[in-house]
Amino acid sequence: MKKNGQVIILLGPPGSGKGSQAGLLSSKMHLPHISTGDILRENVKKQTSLGKKVKHYLDAGQLVPDELVVEMVSSRISQGDCKKGFILDGFPRTLIQAETLQKNLLPNMRLIVINLTVPDKIILERLTLRRICQNCQTTYHLKTSPTIKPGICDKCGGKLIVRDDDREEIVKNRLKVYANQTSPLINYYERKNVLKTVDANRSKEEVFADILSNLSFDFSS
Ligand SMILES: [Zn+2]
Repeated sequence: MKKNGQVIILLGPPGSGKGSQAGLLSSKMHLPHISTGDILRENVKKQTSLGKKVKHYLDAGQLVPDELVVEMVSSRISQGDCKKGFILDGFPRTLIQAETLQKNLLPNMRLIVINLTVPDKIILERLTLRRICQNCQTTYHLKTSPTIKPGICDKCGGKLIVRDDDREEIVKNRLKVYANQTSPLINYYERKNVLKTVDANRSKEEVFADILSNLSFDFSS
């Protein structure tokens, strides 16, 4: 069967840049960017019934139970804008989630999994020095993209805060959870021959170029 849909999964530990790479890919390929983290945080903020169920998992850096995430993602990818494909960021996170996704993929969908690798030490520095404007959500970094006035957003004058799940103990816990639950997916997709590994300890632009070259290799083959 001719494949005319493209599904891209971005795998990688927290802080590996999955979200920003997914955003870049989404614009480039005109495919929706589905970030489970964003959807979950949005639900927590709006205090929906899903939000109330997942809040304490997120606050503790733990994984949200499979059935809740699977339900949320299945409903999102059944929408019309996903017919030509979509980009997943933050899903799947467990083998069960990956197997469920596999069953739900349409036969015309071609799957590529990009595995972003970054050493833990670098991730800790990336995340714990990250600051976010509590007003307009712009992200800064104390070392690589600081504000002009310390603690104050350049865009709106709002106050900068540390996102709850960027605190050091929480980040360490997220890394541990990733190693236990999500790294088995690397073998799973390797066996399916759809895994591409990209060194993400480089600039955003270099990483993006590498991802694109992996994708275009696949399109021509
Ligand atoms: Zn702001």
